[in-house]
Amino acid sequence: MKKYEGYLIDLDGTLYRGSEMIPDAVEFIKRLQQAERRYLYLTNNSSRLPEQVAERLRAFGFPAKPEQVYTSALATANYLKEELSSPYVYVIGEEGLKRAIEEAGCTLTENNPEVVVVGIDRQFTYEKMKKASLFIRQGAQLIGSNPDKALPTEIGLLPGAGSLIAAIATATGVKPLIIGKPEPIILRYALEKLGSSPENTLIIGDNLETDILAGVNSQIDTLLVYSGVTTPEMYEHSSISATYQVASLSEWTI
Ligand SMILES: [Mg+2]
Repeated sequence: MKKYEGYLIDLDGTLYRGSEMIPDAVEFIKRLQQAERRYLYLTNNSSRLPEQVAERLRAFGFPAKPEQVYTSALATANYLKEELSSPYVYVIGEEGLKRAIEEAGCTLTENNPEVVVVGIDRQFTYEKMKKASLFIRQGAQLIGSNPDKALPTEIGLLPGAGSLIAAIATATGVKPLIIGKPEPIILRYALEKLGSSPENTLIIGDNLETDILAGVNSQIDTLLVYSGVTTPEMYEHSSISATYQVASLSEWTI
């Protein structure tokens, strides 16, 4: 096993499952901290602010500061700032996404936006979809925070951001630009924030289509952990390859 300087770590299914923490994961993060490794908590969920994510992690026992959290909302906001010079934006999304986009100097508007950004929005309506479609037909670019089709919850799998983005893409016939895992954009910004090179960084996650594919797409080594959505049987039948696999993070030597 190679030694890595930097770690990009998924949250749900990797550090906790819903409202249940994974004890081996807490011990693992404490080992990273003791060894003075750099790490970021990397999540596709755009609904929460970094301070809310850090607070939730601390409640589970993880050492976490807001600046150690990187979300698809922050990556989307950074893209709007760096690549599109903080445009006028119509946002379908929750507080985490809206706040990040505003903090990137963009103006939120329902009047002739240059970009439509779509993330998870549990108040999604036909009215919002109608507005987004008309703006895109008038020339606005469609950007999706993350492609997750479904969200695991206590009552089952609920529609995720990817489902809402797909609805608007279908309505307009436009292909969205996706920012979150497994796309390279979020990884590029996360590595910048971490101050680590792709060769010296390890992505840890439970999801083949997001976490592990993100590593494959950006030439970063990956550690698949069987504590979440993927079972060893599923991995055996998948075309996506992880660099390493473990049943628990306690097996990983830093
Ligand atoms: Mg996960």
